[in-house]
Amino acid sequence: LIVLGIETSCDDTAAAVVRSNGDILSQVVSSQADLLAQYGGVAPKMAEEAHSQAIDQVVLEALDKANLTEKDLSAIAVTIGPGLSLCLRVGVQKARKIARNFNLPIVGIHHMEAHALVARLIEQDLQFPFMALLISGGHNLLILAHDLGHYVQLGTTIDDAIGEAYDKTAKWLGLDLRRSGGPAIEELAREGDAKSVNFSIPMKQHKDCNFSYAGLKTQVRLAIESRKIDAKIPISSASCEDRVSRADIAASFQRVAVLHLEERCERAIQWALKIEPSITYLVVSGGVASNQYVRARLDLVVKRNGLQLVCPPPSLCTDNGVMVAWTGIEHFRMGRFDPPPPVDEPEDSVYDLRPRWPLGEEHTEGRSEAR
Ligand code: ATP
Ligand code: FE
Repeated sequence: LIVLGIETSCDDTAAAVVRSNGDILSQVVSSQADLLAQYGGVAPKMAEEAHSQAIDQVVLEALDKANLTEKDLSAIAVTIGPGLSLCLRVGVQKARKIARNFNLPIVGIHHMEAHALVARLIEQDLQFPFMALLISGGHNLLILAHDLGHYVQLGTTIDDAIGEAYDKTAKWLGLDLRRSGGPAIEELAREGDAKSVNFSIPMKQHKDCNFSYAGLKTQVRLAIESRKIDAKIPISSASCEDRVSRADIAASFQRVAVLHLEERCERAIQWALKIEPSITYLVVSGGVASNQYVRARLDLVVKRNGLQLVCPPPSLCTDNGVMVAWTGIEHFRMGRFDPPPPVDEPEDSVYDLRPRWPLGEEHTEGRSEAR
């Protein structure tokens, strides 16, 4: 099988061609980082326009780099949720157009399932059941993957995701946002003293596997204000003393943000092993999983609990087309796909888009154990 994957759920326009033996034939990402830096966040209408402008070129490049044409494809996989519907629509419209013209089946993909399953492309030994911690800009999920399409949610965020906290901290510290906030904080944190600011770990009193990052964000904002750090002065122009102060906040924030992940993962592993004693892997994926400090700390937790960590390479942790194509292959193999769209389907049809789409059912035992 050869599958083209298309991803437009948030601010990256991505496409890739993947073969069912796991070979990545091509991978193309067009990022809206410049737009984001200019406007300080994702505006749906602007993101939609940027996707519309990029999509044809991104798909063309993915096919070119793979040395293939549409005729060589077995199917098209496209993210249908969760995400911004205006943005999802651009990818789905493109996927359906190609599928219509070349009579190809379509696989509609859950963005977070794709973040998790791409780990099975890079680690051939990774069988179901396994656990996954999915950490990105909009999600903070701990899941138990029983089987393809069968997931139980052990924990989620009650407010913000960790990536959002990284992005805001970076913005308030005056870091260069032409790249996303996460990598900028990771780099600056290396210069800082992680114990210099005493942030408290979120939700200590809640003995469940849920997350909260809104309170930590507020703590960071207050620390920045009390040190009179001015985000309008870019870090590159900051005085030496000011730079040290910013680095200390970055490092202290990162330490506590990750301690929260460590604590929840430890508990989730214990829960999960009670339900599925055969689990041997914890997958960590999503944009924040490209962070080296996050990986190193979670590796310790996982090993301490007798499991193994699987963390995709950074380019497969942040949004990409490979994870969509690969998840398409997994579903296609099991006979889960839609037939090619009818040749007379109008371009302005109402498509099956799922902007809010939970991944699996909630773990109820977790709720009763809480508090
Ligand atoms: P979602 O997957 O929830 O829909 P998304 O698709 O926008 O969100 P991803 O590309 O999966 O997000 O992840 C982007 C997030 O990852 C951003 O918040 C970004 O700051 C964060 N991130 C990327 N690299 C790093 C890093 N090295 N350290 C910390 N965070 C990072
Ligand atoms: Fe994502």
